[in-house]
Amino acid sequence: MTGTAVPAAALAPPSVGRQVYHRALGVATRTVVEPVLGAAYLTRSEEIEQWWQLGQADRDAWRSEAVDRILRYAIKHVPAYRGLAPDLGAFPIVDKHDMIADTASYLSDEHSKLPVVVKHTGGSTGDPWSYPLDRQAWAESYAAHLRACTRMGVLYGDRRILLGFPSSLGLKKIGPMKRLRLAAERTDASLSGLRVDPATSLRRAEKASAGRAEIWYGYASTIAAMASAVLNAGRTLPGPRLIVTMAEPLMRAWGEDIEAAFGSTVVEEYGCNDGGIMAHRCQAGNFHLADHQSLVEVVDDQGRTCPEGCNGNIVITNFHARHLPFIRYRAGDLGMLGPRHCPCGRPGRTLAGVTGRSGDMVRLPDGTELVPATFYIPFNQVRGVRRWQIVQPDAHHLLVRIEPRSGWNRHEHDLIRRWIEEQTMGLVDVQLVETEPLELTNGGKHRIVIRHG
Ligand SMILES: [Zn+2]
Repeated sequence: MTGTAVPAAALAPPSVGRQVYHRALGVATRTVVEPVLGAAYLTRSEEIEQWWQLGQADRDAWRSEAVDRILRYAIKHVPAYRGLAPDLGAFPIVDKHDMIADTASYLSDEHSKLPVVVKHTGGSTGDPWSYPLDRQAWAESYAAHLRACTRMGVLYGDRRILLGFPSSLGLKKIGPMKRLRLAAERTDASLSGLRVDPATSLRRAEKASAGRAEIWYGYASTIAAMASAVLNAGRTLPGPRLIVTMAEPLMRAWGEDIEAAFGSTVVEEYGCNDGGIMAHRCQAGNFHLADHQSLVEVVDDQGRTCPEGCNGNIVITNFHARHLPFIRYRAGDLGMLGPRHCPCGRPGRTLAGVTGRSGDMVRLPDGTELVPATFYIPFNQVRGVRRWQIVQPDAHHLLVRIEPRSGWNRHEHDLIRRWIEEQTMGLVDVQLVETEPLELTNGGKHRIVIRHG
């Protein structure tokens, strides 16, 4: 786990000029931007800070009421849920395929009155879906992100650079409302793009460093490629106060490279707009969930609750989505519940790990399926692997693509191979290759496991 301790610089009080700027921006955002967008995200981020000051019993009571409220709303207004008891266990687990197949049944009968933003998901996995999300539900998620940044010393309106988003999310297709928000936030999206070859990555790193932003926000693999290009050139560059990686698991070697290249604090974010999750990883390695946003369950394939530390499907009930309520919604990620009392001391519920999309499993010839997390351990023990990817061309073969860095040797090669052979019980032929390029998805995400057939 990469260090996420807040360096002294991040905790230094903001200068007087910075304080005045942020105060003025706060007023302008609340009086102009939020009403125009119809989403009180900054206001909510401040209210949420107060919410977290409540005791655990009060927060739990608030959440019980929030669950009850959304269930009763759905029973009254959503055809698919009419007649159900207002009890979470009575609601079926659904996924996006259920909602796509019968959208009318899952929409609220008053949906035309509820303002939304249209969000997109799954394009990178070849499984795209555009869905309506209440503006207020979006605001809740974004507020949770803003609060996490504030905790790490980055204030709303501090200069921000976006890195690695696909061109479909680039500025060209951004509507006037989002432009307004990005302008207010001093966000620079000019360095987005998915090419991660060393020359492009080095140029991107130089430009980003020269941009003197307080925060970089982007794909883990893109920022890791920038770091690796800088280090391979025998250099380091001044980075921002905070780097938040998203969209993909942050591999340990990536986090180390990023810290070494840019000297910034690195935090991994796990977010999911369909459903509604926003979580940030702490120094103890757990993802702290935004408890004011949703209730997160982890269940097995039969829908039974998995105990803490057991892997299962992440299922979300969003407290704020009413246009198209997300109730016991299976987002497609696997994970496990973490401790209720995290050793880091922060309150709230946690996930101990998020182990990848449920589509990306290794399947053994006897039908056993292994989640990507099965393979993390040896890669966290070796020093010489920058990136890796497992490809399963058929049931009997596994190809492990390795992108080596200094330290890679025969011992590490054998350690990884032995581990994978043990996990796959000798049922598949395991081969490590260091010469094949790693494949990205169409959306530019790094995939840890790719299974064909
Ligand atoms: Zn923690």
